[in-house]
Amino acid sequence: MENIQHSFDVIVVGAGTGGAIAARFAAKNGLNVCLIDSKPRDQIGNKICGDAVGNEIFGLLNINHPKGEELSCHIKGAKLYSPSLKKCLTLVDPKQAGYIVNRLEFGQRLLNEAVDAGVNQFLDKTMALDLIYENNTVSGLKVKLNNGEKTNFKSKIVIDASGFYSPLRKLVKSSLIEKNLPREDSILCYREIVEFSPKDLEVQDPEYISIILDQEKAPGGYIWYFPKNESSVNIGLGAFMDYKGKVKDLYHKNVFQEYIKTSKYNIISTGGGVVPVRRPLWSCADNGIILIGDSACQVNPLHGGGIDPSMRAGYYAANSATHAIEKNDYSINALWEYNHRIMTSFGAEFAALDLLRIVLQTLSNDDLNFGLERDILTGEEILQISSKGGLNLSIISLAAKTIKGISRPKLLLDLNFLRIKMNEINKLYKSFPKGLDKFPEWKERVISVYDKIKKMIVKTKKK
Ligand SMILES: Cc1cc2nc3c(=O)[nH]c(=O)nc-3n(C[C@H](O)[C@H](O)[C@H](O)COP(=O)(O)OP(=O)(O)OC[C@H]3O[C@@H](n4cnc5c(N)ncnc54)[C@H](O)[C@@H]3O)c2cc1C
Repeated sequence: MENIQHSFDVIVVGAGTGGAIAARFAAKNGLNVCLIDSKPRDQIGNKICGDAVGNEIFGLLNINHPKGEELSCHIKGAKLYSPSLKKCLTLVDPKQAGYIVNRLEFGQRLLNEAVDAGVNQFLDKTMALDLIYENNTVSGLKVKLNNGEKTNFKSKIVIDASGFYSPLRKLVKSSLIEKNLPREDSILCYREIVEFSPKDLEVQDPEYISIILDQEKAPGGYIWYFPKNESSVNIGLGAFMDYKGKVKDLYHKNVFQEYIKTSKYNIISTGGGVVPVRRPLWSCADNGIILIGDSACQVNPLHGGGIDPSMRAGYYAANSATHAIEKNDYSINALWEYNHRIMTSFGAEFAALDLLRIVLQTLSNDDLNFGLERDILTGEEILQISSKGGLNLSIISLAAKTIKGISRPKLLLDLNFLRIKMNEINKLYKSFPKGLDKFPEWKERVISVYDKIKKMIVKTKKK
């Protein structure tokens, strides 16, 4: 292909929510940016998703909130159901309020705004194939262009925003970045967007996203029922990657048949996908490369929301790349500030929620019903946990919980141990080392917290 540029400050791979924001802010900072995506331009943004995003990120980045074609509906908060459905906690706070978006239109808007912000070269139907190294530092990419031609692009920094299946994460020569993820750290999902006539079936709680915890119907994950408008819903479920059976069959039996009680419906969209539900990668950068979004496991481990963190990370990555380029230093030492930004902000919350996720996945429906129906955790406490990644309890509320949970002292003790460890890991992440030298010691301390939670689970299983 003629007339294409081959040398850039930054190449962003993937124009999803993370990549579009990274490219936009890197361009705004005056960098020479190339953005590539393997999809055709008019399909960028089209992703199997629950489509829910909180409103906070738009204020934080000072960008337009979803409106018009890209907005499906406004959401006030979340409803969390116990497996028996006898208990429903309504969770309303500014962080939980937001939008259900039309993913394609939302993605197209983010892409157009990135291009308008001054991205120097946007190439669709262009696939990143491999990383190019010079002196142990990523210095560019091998790509396949839309005409099938293979070529090399040079860059000071590559930002990998290519999603969960990132080919680049697997190719990176790094002792800091995990190439392969343990299967238990991800959830397999299936969802459909179903339209029906409002005369035949009403959308339940149209201003709330509903989440149903049920270890039998959605083992290891949850069922979701998200409104889209007065006549359609986005419904689905997530389950362990190792679930022995088809997640689509679970969906049909436990979601579709339960919630679409009419014979007159249209299925607008179907599909499955995988979400990482763990703390971010140990390091989300190395010499000449930064990873953002699903590629770096930057997804809320509790509910699988990854749109907001991918956009945050895109913004942080653009700024750290700019600082590194100003200093003419693309080494991990210069890019470490990106890791620091991630780990001390949402990384701290996600690490604590990762511990909670690991323990929740071992609880039975009985335990979940007991905990929620007896208000062992109140709605406010759940909000505190999900927005701060920790829970500080007074002696009085601890005593009140002991009385409520007296018939299951072991469960209560385990939950209290979990709470203490969540607070501990949250603090550890907030004091993430400012430089690489102290990182190995910090990592050991984090691993030891995980080990203690895993030991607690093994002990509980034996009893
Ligand atoms: C079923 C399901 C439901 C979900 N529900 C929600 C929800 O309700 N709310 C929420 O916040 N999050 C949700 N998520 C998670 C959310 O979709 C992701 O966390 C988010 O989209 C991550 O954005 P990203 O930019 O990192 O990656 P992606 O959006 O996956 O974008 C990656 C881009 O990279 C491109 N690409 C891939 N490989 C290459 C390559 N080699 N070369 C060039 N381009 C490449 C792809 O074409 C794609 O455009 C859900 C996920 C799933 C699977």
